[in-house]
Formats: sequence, structure tokens, C-alpha cells
Amino acid sequence: MKTYFVQIAIDIPLFKLFEYSWNSEQLGQEPEIGLIVEIEFGKKKVSGIVYEINSESISKKENSAYTIKEVIQISPCPRIKDAELKLFQFASKYYLRPIGEVVFSSIPSDWKKPVNWPKLQKSIKKKENLGIKEAIREPLTLTFNEEQDKAIEALINLSKEGKYSITFLKGITGSGKTAVYLEWIKRITEDTAKQCLVLVPEINLTPQLEQTVKNICIGKEVVILHSNLTPSERNYAWWKIQNGVGQIIVGTRLSVFTPIKNLSAIVIDEEHDNSYKQQDGMRYSARDVAIWRAADLKIPVLLCSATPSLETWDKVLKKKIDLLSLSKRAKPGATIPSIEIIDIKNEVNQSKFKNLGLCDYTLEEIKKTALRKKQSLIFINRRGYAPILTCHACNWKSECKNCSTWQVFHKISGKNKKPMLQCHHCGLIERIPEACPECGNQDLRHLGVGTQSIEENIEKTLQELRILRIDTDVTRSKGSAEELFQKIHQQEVDVVVGTQMLSKGHDFSNVETVVVVDIDKSLYSYDFRATEKMYAQLVQVAGRGGRGDNLENSKIIIQTAFPEHKIFNAIKDENLYEFYNELLEERKIAQLPPFSYQALVMAESKNQTMNEEVLKGLKNFLENIGNKNNGCIIYDPVPRSIQRVSGVERTQVLLESTDRKKLQTCLEKILDYAEAQKSKNRSIRIIIERDPISF
Ligand code: ADP
Ligand code: ZN
Ligand code: ZN
Repeated sequence: MKTYFVQIAIDIPLFKLFEYSWNSEQLGQEPEIGLIVEIEFGKKKVSGIVYEINSESISKKENSAYTIKEVIQISPCPRIKDAELKLFQFASKYYLRPIGEVVFSSIPSDWKKPVNWPKLQKSIKKKENLGIKEAIREPLTLTFNEEQDKAIEALINLSKEGKYSITFLKGITGSGKTAVYLEWIKRITEDTAKQCLVLVPEINLTPQLEQTVKNICIGKEVVILHSNLTPSERNYAWWKIQNGVGQIIVGTRLSVFTPIKNLSAIVIDEEHDNSYKQQDGMRYSARDVAIWRAADLKIPVLLCSATPSLETWDKVLKKKIDLLSLSKRAKPGATIPSIEIIDIKNEVNQSKFKNLGLCDYTLEEIKKTALRKKQSLIFINRRGYAPILTCHACNWKSECKNCSTWQVFHKISGKNKKPMLQCHHCGLIERIPEACPECGNQDLRHLGVGTQSIEENIEKTLQELRILRIDTDVTRSKGSAEELFQKIHQQEVDVVVGTQMLSKGHDFSNVETVVVVDIDKSLYSYDFRATEKMYAQLVQVAGRGGRGDNLENSKIIIQTAFPEHKIFNAIKDENLYEFYNELLEERKIAQLPPFSYQALVMAESKNQTMNEEVLKGLKNFLENIGNKNNGCIIYDPVPRSIQRVSGVERTQVLLESTDRKKLQTCLEKILDYAEAQKSKNRSIRIIIERDPISF
């Protein structure tokens, strides 16, 4: 046994490895790449990962006065394997983040702290001996329809081939996509030690999923991973997955980086969903990382959706992704609701409509639905009472002090249920001014509608109905969303008013009428993805209707002043293809994704002018080093769509290229520039984002 020199990556935002010495005798083993160890960094004891091993010191060579510290101990957590290290290296390079940061984002925070190691090891050995006793379950067996059978068979054949494949399962809402992919992973894990990863958008919104998975995959250890787990739940889950005990992993985006011993297939449910994109720190797309991981491990990956992202659909058209489809609702008796686009052009300026947010026809239909003992669901994508408070005398508006947005008027706010103004960006909460802060006028009015006002309006106009509101204001506390959803399932309410929390995954058996209000602003938006996003949302919400028996009258009512917009025609599934082709054609003409690749370079500081100067400097820098004709378009610096958040001014430069490699080269140069700027000016933050989805 001898002494080595190891290069260690640490969880800090620096692109640098640190050298330590490794005394094999003291540590009890030779060094291995991927081992997690304790080291002293500055004055702190932290964990790091062994990234390189040398028999001679590198830093001594460069600087003989350098003192090299020793690795203190090896962590009891399993070594990060080569395949995972490769995954982290890819993410580090592609998303331009230091390797240490990427590695440690995959490790639960408790495991990162060396002081916890003895305790953690002990607590897991307890658990191991006890063995977790699962409740005895009734197996859920379905008789699959022809389309489902065909899809399952095709998928099983793919997993038998033992190579990388990418398949898209297109199916209307309720067509049995979940049932298909669960049957697939059940078969893969049957009588083997194989593990499967199922990525889902937001697990808290789909509490039924956990039960469904457990009922189908009986006898298999199902591990659920999301950011709301307690630290000890997360530690144990992570440990089980890494040791191959947890065979079926269902998790949100963060689980895409989890080390998995025998990963054999990946499913990405609702692949179009924006919550797969991390919007801070390492701004990765879990969908894209998952696909990379599957390709690297040579395993199949399945994407599912009723409304694929245009990126995915384009690849289906180009035959880079195989297509499987389900065209009917799976449950016998389920119906596909009819769609009614209600033109509210004439109502828009009437004060009655402005106050209610719902037209007479809609109210009448909600009432009729309740008389038939069925439920209505009203979807509005804004919580609070009204998006803005304003003075009619001087035009003052409730602008947030910290952000370039309006504070939302909440009629019921906090524990005391008092009216307040709330900023949905920085969280600032303020009392309602008694008079206009500008002119003293006492007649302040709210404009527009939100979940609270729709709830109140129905309470007033349809007094006999039982109403429930579901938005994050109601469901702050853990578990309470589930209780609220139970009320819907148990027919304790006639009308549900809620945000997009209502739209995903729920299988309500008695919802006959679905109403969509207040969507017009997003129909004509500066954001080139707005139509695609709105379309996916509409189809999801519409999909909550007609899912049970005796819902022949089921309908989707959409209130809009733009009934001629092409999005409405496309909600009928048979028109989807034409609509997607049109959107793709538009993108192609404009050379927007998926016909080009984008990245954002963002500057954040208290000073907009400084941001702009730094970004102008960056643009010049790139052009001077010859990027002008290098296949990357570099746009001028502009303020972000919400320029100021929490007092921070935000500016961006957009980069675009039809060649991913050229974009990569350009971004790596920017990284150098950003590092140099950082050391010159500590008050500015420069952030790089690949494949941005909002601007
Ligand atoms: P999706 O994922 O496409 O929205 P699900 O797989 O959740 O659809 O199926 C919707 C509903 O239909 C669920 O209640 C599910 O149990 C049921 N279901 C799925 N397949 C079948 C089948 N072959 N026979 C009967 N019910 C089915
Ligand atoms: Zn005023
Ligand atoms: Zn604010």
C-alpha cells in the first residue's frame, strides 16, 4: 500500500479540482475514482468525490511551497459508478456547470455531510434488518384493448433487444398510457434484478399514481422520489435505489441524476411538461438528460403524452423516434366530451361580465350539470382575487416595489383571511391601501378575475351549489391537496374552481362539465412557445371531463373573444396533426427550435446599465475572437420579459445556431469571459442557460 495524489471535485461553483493525498494504509483501501470522501477544505470538513488519481503530485510540481492535505475518511455511501460519472460529465459540459456541483446535486444533503455518516449507516442497518412490510394488495389486472396490447408487445420487444431505442406513446387523455407503461415495466422487472425509472412532472399533484404503481407492480419495491420527502425518507430511498433494492423508481426531474444500479428502461410521462426543466442552479431538462442516459446505457426510453412537445413531434415525423398510439378512452363507458367555444366578444366590455368572469350560458350549464348530480370544474390559471388593483382617478396600479410586475389582489390572505396585495414573484405581501397612494382617491378597484373571485361569484349566483377552490393558497400545507381531491372523488362538491393543479393526471369519475376561462392573453403572446403551451394545457384540462360512466352530456366550455384562433379547432384530437404541422412550419420559417438551438446568457445585478455593458462586452468579445461568421447568431442585450425581480435587474443575450456543436464551442468561450468578469466585478451574476423555455 502506498500514497497517491487524488484530484477531488467539491460542491462549489468553481470549475476546479483540488489535490489531496491518499494514504492507502490509513484509509484501508486504494483510491478509486467515484469514491466519496471527507476532506478539509479551508477550515471546513466537507465531502468531495475522487475524480482523478495520480502517483505523483501535480500541484507540487507547479508550486513547491504548496502543502497537500490528506483525505480524512471514505464515506459509507456506495461509490459513484463509471456510467453515472459519465452522465455527470455530460451534464457538466452541456449545461456548463462545475462537475462537483453536478455530482453532489444527485446526493441527498444529509449524505453530503461527513458528520452524519456514522449515524446514517447505522439507521440504514436497522431498516435493513426489519425489512419493510408492504401492505397486502389486490393485484390490479386490466384486460387491455387491442391498441394497448399492440403497444405493450412492441415495447417488450424493444426491451428484449437490449439496445437503445426511443419511442413515443401518443394517446388521448385517459387512453390508458399509464396502464401500458406500467405493464411494460412490470414485465421488465419480473423475475429479474432490473430497475426502471419513471419520470413524472409533479408527483404531489398525482397522489393516485403511487397507489396505481404499487397495485400493478405487486411484490416489487417501488421508490418514490420528489423534493417533498423528509430528509430521512430521501436518504433511505437513495440508498435503496443505489443498491438495486428499489426496482421501480417513480420520481420528479431530480431523479434523473440518481445513481441506479441496474437501470434497464426509462419512461418519461407527460414528456412535454415544463416542470421537467429546472429553472435555477443547473438549468437542465430532465427529459433531455434522460434520453442521453438511455442512449449511453443502451436501454429503451419511452416518452408519453397526449400533446407532445414540438421537439419530440418533429423527431417522430423525421422517423428518429418510433410512434405508438392509443386513440380511444380505455375505460368502458368513458366518453370524449364535446367542445363548445363560447364567443364572449360582446360580453367583454359589459360590467356584469367583467365582475363575474363567467357568461350567462356558462352559469346556466354549471347549474344544469349540478341538477343532473354531476360535477363542474372551472379552470383559471391565476390564483388570488384579481390580478391588479387600480385607481380610476389617476390610473395608479398596484406595482410591486421589488419587481416589474403587479401585485395581485387577494381578498382572503394568510391565517387571518384578510385582504392583501401579494407579489407572486418576490412574495412581498402588503396591506390594501385605504386610499390611492398617488392621489388620495378612496375608490380603488380591482381588474380581472382569479380563483377567489370566480369562487365568490358562483357562491353568489348559484347559491345552492357546493363549491371548492383548489390552488396553492389552499394547499400550502402538506397533505391537504390530497384531502381536497378526495372531496371531489367522494362527490362532496358540485363545482370545483382551480388552477392548473386540477389539470394533471386526475381521474375524476363524475366531472361532466369543464369550463376554461381567461385564456385570451396567452393566445397572442410574444413568447413563441405560448400557443404550444396553451394547447397542452387546454387538452389536459379538457381531459378531466367524461372519465366515468353516464357522462354522455360531457362538454368542455371555453370562453374566448377569439373563437377563430386555430388552437380551438385543434383540441379535437383528429385535428392535432394539422395543427402541429402548421406550428412546425411557422418555426421552420422563423428558424426557431426545433429548427435551431438556443441558449441564453443572463446578467443579473442591481444595475440594468451595468448588465447591458457587460453583455455588450460579451458580444464584442465573441465577435472579436471570430464568432461573427462561426454559425452562431448573437442577439443584442435586452431586458428579460420580467425585467426586475426582488430588486434584481435582469438582462439577456440570446444565442442561436442550427449547429449544436458550434453553440457549445461558443458557450465554452463565454464561460471564460464570465469567469473573468466575476473576478472583476462581484456584484454581477452571469448565468448560462441551454435550451431555454422562457425568456
Ligand atoms: P392515460 O395515462 O392515457 O391518461 P390511464 O392509463 O390513466 O390513461 O387510464 C385511464 C383510466 O382508464 C384509468 O382509470 C385506468 O385504470 C383505466 N384503464 C386503462 N386501461 C384500461 C383497460 N384496458 N380496461 C379498463 N380500464 C382501463
Ligand atoms: Zn389615484
Ligand atoms: Zn415582487
